[in-house]
Amino acid sequence: MLPRLRVKGATIVSMDPALGIIESGDLLIDNGKIIAVGRNVGSWAVMEIDGRGMIAMPGFINGHIHLWQTALRGVAADWTLDHYFDVLIGKVVRLYTPQDAYIGNLVGALDQINSGVTTLFDWCHIVNTPAHADAAVDALQDAGVRAIFAYGTPMTLFGTKEPHPADAGRMRKERLSSSDALVTMALAIRGTDFAPGTAETDIRFARELGLLASFHVACAKHGPRPQSMQNLAEQRLLGPDINLVHANFLTADEFRVIADDGSNVSITPEVEMQMGLGLPPTGAVLAARVNFNIGTDVVTGVSTDMFTQMRFLIQTQRALTNDSFHKRETMPDKLAMTAKQALELATIKSAQCLGLDTRIGSLTPGKEADIVLLRKSDINMRAAADPIAAIVLHAGVANVDTVIVGGKIVKQNGKLTYRELPRRLTDLDSSSERLYRSFVANESAA
Ligand SMILES: [Zn+2]
Repeated sequence: MLPRLRVKGATIVSMDPALGIIESGDLLIDNGKIIAVGRNVGSWAVMEIDGRGMIAMPGFINGHIHLWQTALRGVAADWTLDHYFDVLIGKVVRLYTPQDAYIGNLVGALDQINSGVTTLFDWCHIVNTPAHADAAVDALQDAGVRAIFAYGTPMTLFGTKEPHPADAGRMRKERLSSSDALVTMALAIRGTDFAPGTAETDIRFARELGLLASFHVACAKHGPRPQSMQNLAEQRLLGPDINLVHANFLTADEFRVIADDGSNVSITPEVEMQMGLGLPPTGAVLAARVNFNIGTDVVTGVSTDMFTQMRFLIQTQRALTNDSFHKRETMPDKLAMTAKQALELATIKSAQCLGLDTRIGSLTPGKEADIVLLRKSDINMRAAADPIAAIVLHAGVANVDTVIVGGKIVKQNGKLTYRELPRRLTDLDSSSERLYRSFVANESAA
């Protein structure tokens, strides 16, 4: 049993339409769940957290990240997508041991918690062997974050017609069989662009295992795509259990098909613009009423926090819309998207995409206690009257004071509670140095 907690006197941004924003509000948490939200709730608590001067919000839900890349943070800062495929995916991945996968995932997950993410979708394609997959799952479980481990393929399978590794069935049966656990499972398949003709088999495999299937699609210009979304729809292979990542060059007709079948899209705006994947498809997705969320994606190239990604998403969409007015020699009469919409995409709507909205995504009684407290007393948050504008446009990682996952405090007073952090950071440095050294040695031998 986890202790009963009370957050007292916070500005609560519930993201629950029935509750809205509550000034000087309390959150009562018992056995990992939110049991009451409002003013002066709860008669007793084992532990009280002073929420005065804080915004309490649901934890961010990062819709797409490759945590294993944490040991190579920033290596792809100036790389195009093709350079990334040639070097990172083509050469560096095979140097990864299960220990590298573990430490990358562990420190990566702790970095997520530090930035206010309580749930992440780990699109894991470092599974050189089943031992790599186990190490990645060990790390997620050790970090204390809520996570969906998306079991990917070894990189050597990209571009082949080999089916998804059968070991995913072992993982589902033996380690990640529960849908209530902190770490649950999905399948990270190569999909229609990266393994043409195999996506059908892999989607059916995911369905046999009762898992969501996620794949990158239409995120580069390499000639015509081998398979359309209409083709998947005709085979009844779209649905709420299909997550499409990036989708920059899907057509309006394809987005309509996706919306009809209830599939969802993850947009990772910063990397899409940086590495040449294409413009974030936010406008087309909104127009077709497709469910979507926001993710951070490659740790090798872009920021890992959701504040940055919300800002990239909303401002890119505003810039594109504003530009369409300028092209007609006029000025916009209103801005595209609202700050609240951006926050929804990083919380409740992200939970909907992952099929977790009955459990997380808002501060609603009965849901899991995944809560973030942001210091609005900090100088960059001072005088911000609208708490949603403050979160979306002004806040940053430095303002994340407290993070609670499933009723457990994982960051307090601005510090992670994970006990072995200094040792693990040193382990990450060693992994990083070894990977760089082996890569350089390989390059000069070639
Ligand atoms: Zn990705």
